[in-house]
Order: sequence, then C-alpha cells, then structure tokens
Amino acid sequence: MDSRAFVQNMFREYYAKDFSLGEDFPSIEKREFGFASFGGWMLRHKSFKTAEELEFFLQDSVPYGAYFSCAYYEDPEADMNKKGWLGADLIFDVDADHIPTSCNKIHDEWVCGSCGFAGRGIEPEKCPSCSSEKIEVNSWPCEVCIETAKVEIIKLVDFLVDDFGFSEKEIRLFFSGHRGYHVYVQTKSVEPLDAIARKEITDYICGRGLRFSSFGLDGKVLATKKGAFKVLADLGWRRRIVRGIKDAILNADEQKLASFGFSNADTRAILENKEKILIELEKSDKAGLIKGIGPERWEKIVNLSVSLQSAKIDTVVTTDVHRLIRLDNSLHGKTGFKKVEIPMSAIEDFDPFKSAVAFTKGEVTVLVSSAPAFKLDDETFGPYKNQKIELPTAAAVLLVCKGRAEVIG
Ligand SMILES: [Zn+2]
Ligand SMILES: [Zn+2]
Repeated sequence: MDSRAFVQNMFREYYAKDFSLGEDFPSIEKREFGFASFGGWMLRHKSFKTAEELEFFLQDSVPYGAYFSCAYYEDPEADMNKKGWLGADLIFDVDADHIPTSCNKIHDEWVCGSCGFAGRGIEPEKCPSCSSEKIEVNSWPCEVCIETAKVEIIKLVDFLVDDFGFSEKEIRLFFSGHRGYHVYVQTKSVEPLDAIARKEITDYICGRGLRFSSFGLDGKVLATKKGAFKVLADLGWRRRIVRGIKDAILNADEQKLASFGFSNADTRAILENKEKILIELEKSDKAGLIKGIGPERWEKIVNLSVSLQSAKIDTVVTTDVHRLIRLDNSLHGKTGFKKVEIPMSAIEDFDPFKSAVAFTKGEVTVLVSSAPAFKLDDETFGPYKNQKIELPTAAAVLLVCKGRAEVIG
C-alpha cells in the first residue's frame, strides 16, 4: 500500500470514530479555522457554527493538520483586514526545536533543498555550502527533548500564576502532538491585549530588559555600594534571581559550574564564597560587597540565574494576535499523535508517548530506513536500520509520518 494513503486512512478512521473537540472550546463561531491537506495545500478563513459542524468537516476532509485562531472575529470568513478582530486568547508555545539538547545531534537531521548538503543537530539558518535558506528538517519527537520542553512549561505556569496572578482555571496545558507544548490563557482580561502588550509579557517571561539595579542585584551596585537602591520585596524577578542563584549555582559542583560557562577562576571564587553570597542575597538593601566577587562576577552570576529561571517560549507565537494554533485533539501529521490537554495537576507525570497515542489496534509491516530507539505505550522499539518489521499501528504511523519507513504489502 502507498504509505501516504495508509496514514490518511488511519487519520480518516480517527476522525470518524474517536475525535471529539472536547467540551471546553469557547466561542467556536467566532474563530477562524485553517487546514493543511495531505496534498500540501492550505485552506484558511473557514468557520463553523457548532462543534458538530467542525467534526463533520474533519471526517469528510481528513486533514494533515487542523488549526484554529487564538483570535475571536465578528466575521471569521472575511479577508484578514475585514474580519473584525474582537480579541484573542493569550497563547504560548514551547518547542524542543528551539531548545538545544545534547541528543539532537543523534536524532535530528537536516538537508539543504538546493544542494543536498546535510548535517545533524539543530539546522542552520542558511546552508553552509550554498547559502540557500531551503533547509528541510527531519527532527525526532525524542523523549529527552520533550521532557526539556516540559521543564520550560512548568516554569511558564509559575510565571502565569505567581507573577501575573492568573488562576489555574484560566490556564490550559496541551501537548502539541510533536515536540512541544501549548499553553492557553483563556480569560476576559487578556482578550483585548494588542501585540505590544503581549510583547511586554513575553519580555518579562524571557527576562529581557531587566535592570538589576532596580532591585538591588546589579553587580556594580552590589560590589561598590555606590547608589543607594531600595530593594523591592521578595517578589517577581528578584525572587526568581535569588532562587536561581541558590538552587542552581550555589548548589552546583565544579563540573556543573563549568558547564554553565564559568571559567576556572570564576568557579573557584563562587565555591569559596558560597556562604557569603548567600548572606548577601538575604539582605534587603544594598547587598553585595564580597572579596573575590567583584561587579563582573556578580553580573555573570545574576545573568546566568536569569537565563535559568526564564522560560524558553517561542515569542513569535504569543505576540501574533491572529495566530492559528493546532486544534485541540486533532492529529499531528508529523507523528500521528493527538494534541491532548494535560490537567494542571498531571503535568509532572505526563507521558506523551502514552497519552497522545491515537492508534491502539492492529499491526503493520514496514520497511524502516533508519530510526532511533523509542518508546510507545510502554513498549520499546528500535533502533532500526534498513529493516523490515511488523509494528503496532501507532509505531508504524509515527515512522511513516517521519519519513523513516514505508508500508509494505
Ligand atoms: Zn545548500
Ligand atoms: Zn532528544
């Protein structure tokens, strides 16, 4: 059987028998919907009055990808500038594609569409050989990478609850179906925010443009005691910076500090002055005079803490008030996984290789060109290299979707 037809048939079965939009989908009639087909074309500016109407469309069209707008519109089917923007949910995307991990060199491949030059790991912006920007990426939904993205999501939720004051009921978490997570903040207060306001929010979460002096954590202020800066209460970024220094830096050993990029001399100074640094951090005003930890070292310590405490979100997604996002419970064409909601209390233990599996019946014989070892529904598979093998449907769909296998027979 043709491999694409096989995947499409499986998707058809899913949309016919298993798909449901879920009960929590606010104002469906005001959303724009978009669909990517298996043939490669994109349909936008669709709208639906009810969930049933959308479900019927999915059964009928069987898309490769289904998307909806974070925005609410008066007329979602109109041209972009005539839609009548009414507001938008606040959306966050954390994708392992943007977080370097040590394993991406093992499982991710890219190839230049112009000259065929290929490499491993995170793809370059331009081909190193011919400078073409047509880079095709074949990344892998790796357990370790997805776990890395999850850590960022947990940090993000902490910002949203503790610093922005959203209630847990207003925040919804999803696994994207590929290599990342989506977070929706759905509440009246965020809907009118424009792109600039959303940019302010992403800057805060990424720790961009922080002035350490304004909360007494400026290296120069700390070390010289010149300006008399009143330290703010232990809230927001000050609390986060102090926490990052305590948890990550002062509790680290030599090797770990080196991995953070500290030089041997910096490492020694930090380890020798642990106690003193802790004491200075507890001071509420003009802290910081320590022999061996001058302004530059303080700055390095604070900067590292900021980068560890910030959440690695894809800021472009959040600031786009017209953004289309993958539809809840729809299938991801690159994996055959479902985009699934994760209850807030279950995020720590969430396992996408169990919860997002859409196909639980049957076996399929495939010829696998190459695949790293992976785990699906508590079973382990691979690694494979030019191998004919019978696999459970979900594993076969994953490999075919990733372009790593062909269906035989
Ligand atoms: Zn090239
Ligand atoms: Zn990985």
